[in-house]
Amino acid sequence: MVDERFDVVLSVDRTLMTNHHGKEFLGFLATGPPVMVPEKIWMAVAAPRMRVDDLGRPLEAPYGLRKIEAALLDAGIKAAVIDPDYLGKHLKNAKVLGIGHHDYFALGPPSSEWWVLTGREPVNSKCFRKFMEKPEVRMAKKNGLKIIVGGPAAWQWLWMPDYAEKWGVDTVVEGEAEKIIVSLVQDALEGKPLPRYVHVGIQDTPVLNEIPVIKNASVNGLVEIMRGCPRGCRFCSVTLRPLRQYPLEMVEKELRVNKACGLDRCLLHAEDILLYGADGVKPRPEPLIRLHQTARQFFKVVGWSHVSLSAVKYAEENYSLITRLSEIILQDEHDYIGVEVGIETGSPRLAEKIMPAKAAPYPAGSWPSIVKDAFSIMHESRVVPAATIIIGMPDEKPDDLVKTLELIEELKDFRSLIIPMYFVPMGVLKNGEWYRAKPNGEQLEVMKACLKHDLRWIKDLSNWYFNKTNPFVKISLKTVIFLVERVAKGFRLLS
Ligand code: SF4
Repeated sequence: MVDERFDVVLSVDRTLMTNHHGKEFLGFLATGPPVMVPEKIWMAVAAPRMRVDDLGRPLEAPYGLRKIEAALLDAGIKAAVIDPDYLGKHLKNAKVLGIGHHDYFALGPPSSEWWVLTGREPVNSKCFRKFMEKPEVRMAKKNGLKIIVGGPAAWQWLWMPDYAEKWGVDTVVEGEAEKIIVSLVQDALEGKPLPRYVHVGIQDTPVLNEIPVIKNASVNGLVEIMRGCPRGCRFCSVTLRPLRQYPLEMVEKELRVNKACGLDRCLLHAEDILLYGADGVKPRPEPLIRLHQTARQFFKVVGWSHVSLSAVKYAEENYSLITRLSEIILQDEHDYIGVEVGIETGSPRLAEKIMPAKAAPYPAGSWPSIVKDAFSIMHESRVVPAATIIIGMPDEKPDDLVKTLELIEELKDFRSLIIPMYFVPMGVLKNGEWYRAKPNGEQLEVMKACLKHDLRWIKDLSNWYFNKTNPFVKISLKTVIFLVERVAKGFRLLS
């Protein structure tokens, strides 16, 4: 190994330092406990090891860590993302360990739900505990290492102060850290005292030209095109952040970085891809077509992270835009594109109350028909939504769940996955009641309807999704699907 020292090491446990075999959806497995297979096999499927260089730097790394790495490098600080299996050598010299995570303690959705339903700890929090207990981390901490934690799940440390104490976490940063991380790390390097908790307020949230361009490849070529979301759903933390749209030149720079590092795919990331260059919440064809044509110049495989269902409907009905975009990015008639979407509820009453702008520019009261129209459009354009439904929302009534059940039934012929998630208090509702009860009658019926829907479509989609995946992953997952179906039938969860 070449001898190179870094003052700042950025890392995270294996459930995030992985590319999930190039299949983002497999990342969902890392939010649950192993089901019907040993944990080792579960982890090998969900979170395989990364390729690393001579120094233990991963070829691909989580995008958030790459942004922090870029901010520190731009400030002249010697920093690097290091794979968790290669920390030992680097932590002997490093003064700061920075960690970013999506779900440190499995308190977020859907981990918290799997935990309640199975009574077993999901692999993500188990893996993170092992990471923090690594002898090399403990030894470095004894020798004065400063530990700074952040990322989308930073809020979870406020619920787990004992762990922060036990592991010697010096600072928790909640919010977008690219602007404040440099001075925080400089203080740590100079031995100055660090604050225990930093909430990044609006004045410290980076504006566009304060967001650095990544210097090294991100997992599965993820490239952000926008930050924030204008829809203001009451349960969502994203909504508290200002909306910023990257110029196409900036997106292109990051596409180039990933290409130069040898990646063969990209994943466009925003809370709603279709709002890139939009007129408010109304998608416009020109910027979206240019964005997708640019991405296709670099990569054969172009993926989407999230879209909103109302934008799907508006874009297609006004400009045939979903059809046009899918023609740009899909390679042949056997190809599909997967994307995360939020249904959350089938109840117009609840939609009006907790996510009044999610349906915009359409009225919130017509939410179920927007969902149905959008699913139909995506089905025709070979876009496969993985949709979330929230269970246990504040003020949820049995009739709301009945409406959700009716909607799931209406979606049955559209190629998709529907994933029920327990309500987690975030966003405007962050002081709300945490939902951790066993599901009641109607909630259980919603979960069963989702299971039935998913098993049907998983089987239909598996040949496409696992095409070119290594045989071990394909066989392991097909076995799990087969066993889940048998057990569900055994327990009369499926008719
Ligand atoms: S549309 Fe999605 S990202 Fe935007 S506020 Fe609602 S839940 Fe959050």
